[in-house]
Amino acid sequence: MSETSTTHATTLLSGKTCVVMGVQNRWSIAWQIAEAMANAGANVAITYVDDRAKKNAEQLAGTVPGMKTFVCDVSSDEAIAALAGELKAEYGSIDTLVHSIAFAPADELKNPFLQTTRDGFRLAHEISVYSLIAVARELSPIMNEFGSIMTLTYLGSTRAFPKYNVMGVAKAALEASVRYLALDLGEKGIRVNAISAGPVKTASARGIPGFSDMANAAAEKAPLGKVFGPQHVAGTAVYLATDASAGITGDVIFVDGGYHAMGM
Ligand code: NAD
Repeated sequence: MSETSTTHATTLLSGKTCVVMGVQNRWSIAWQIAEAMANAGANVAITYVDDRAKKNAEQLAGTVPGMKTFVCDVSSDEAIAALAGELKAEYGSIDTLVHSIAFAPADELKNPFLQTTRDGFRLAHEISVYSLIAVARELSPIMNEFGSIMTLTYLGSTRAFPKYNVMGVAKAALEASVRYLALDLGEKGIRVNAISAGPVKTASARGIPGFSDMANAAAEKAPLGKVFGPQHVAGTAVYLATDASAGITGDVIFVDGGYHAMGM
């Protein structure tokens, strides 16, 4: 951890069970969050998409005592239902669900937005947006009261960034879904929020042709651009999992070193 990293008392999340979806490798935001939650005392489960990601996920989980791995491809309703069943069998109930999953076909991020295809639009929204609704519906029945659901979004939802394209439209729909899910799940005492992260070098980020420009602009213009890092995103995820954030729902919390707040 760097000297600017956020450290958490090991008791902040003790007694809580946190499920973090979307670990591809050690650079994944999901992994940063899973590790931070475990360091804060949580019992953590991570999910990965397929056999290719399995080895990484198992190796990473092996570094944290008690951490378990589960497979879940969110394009399948059966896989999501199976995950809910496996989590219930393993833990009985859970407290936190982190959705750190997105996908868009490469061509949709390479071509001009005007060339967005019907299939590309559908797939980006199915994996990056609908999946949050589906996992919230299947997993909320096993969530404890005052549970916390969170997802990862980006400023491209409200501002146009070159090459972010259909993913920006999907993030706008994701943020709207957060508000509607917060409305539905509030009566069960479950909170739903999004963390709008600044640029973090991950496998998905490398798939966005304009990523370096986005990252350079953020590093240069954000008040905290030089120090911002994934550890700060993970720190906010820990906060959203604690009871200290029990009054926050339907919100988008920016963790981008302040970039979103600047005029130029
Ligand atoms: P990542 O590639 O490490 O994570 C994306 C995850 O989505 C991977 O684990 C991948 O396997 C998973 N995924 C894709 N299709 C799936 C499917 N059908 N079923 C289950 N999982 C599937 O990249 P990341 O940057 O850590 O992305 C995590 C989240 O953070 C995404 O929602 C992304 O849009 C968001 N985000 C990233 C940044 C950034 O700069 N990296 C900034 C803001 C928001």
